[in-house]
Amino acid sequence: MARYTGPVCKLCRREQQKLFLKGLKCYTEKCPIERRNYPPGQHGPQKGRRRKASDYATQLREKQKVKRIYGVPEKQFRNLFEQAARRDGVTGANLLIALESRLDNTVFRMGFASSRNQARQLVRHRHVEVDGEMVDVPSYQVRAGQEVAVRPKSKNLESVQISMEARTRPSLVEWLALDDKARVGRMVRTPTRQDIPLAVQEQLIVELYSK
Ligand code: SF4
Repeated sequence: MARYTGPVCKLCRREQQKLFLKGLKCYTEKCPIERRNYPPGQHGPQKGRRRKASDYATQLREKQKVKRIYGVPEKQFRNLFEQAARRDGVTGANLLIALESRLDNTVFRMGFASSRNQARQLVRHRHVEVDGEMVDVPSYQVRAGQEVAVRPKSKNLESVQISMEARTRPSLVEWLALDDKARVGRMVRTPTRQDIPLAVQEQLIVELYSK
């Protein structure tokens, strides 16, 4: 299925949770979820008592939420899940580790971009290199020890500067090291599930795909 290109705030409203898909704008503009904290749709907020969601609906929502946070289309997500299931260890944790190790996510976590969407664009537009070689594939899996940098000709890009200077920038996660000024970072080790600051129940995704 093609990548979603509609209004991203609708995705947060669908999940009834702030997913911070617009980067810095989520902090500087009014967030629609604060005014309309009910799922999008022409009928507005549900009246009366809400029906309890089925197990399937709960699992589906959790999967959609993680997919939307990382901006990964269904087919890629499913492939990542299948690779995670073949690896040793807990499938749900393996899946999140693979998502965190994507190049676009690494660029975002290092602060070179203020959202994963923006990070994906930086990668696609050839502004990023891994170990000195240009890589324009957002799904590229970064491995421990590899260096990720903004290419020399792109270091002064306005979007990179704004993102690096933003006070709302999330603090750097433990498995990454960063030289702010040089715009160079390194994955010092592979993250574990405990390292990933994401409140999701990945086991529900495993249950959904195991049906
Ligand atoms: Fe989500 Fe940001 Fe839009 Fe709020 S402003 S609904 S957090 S994308």
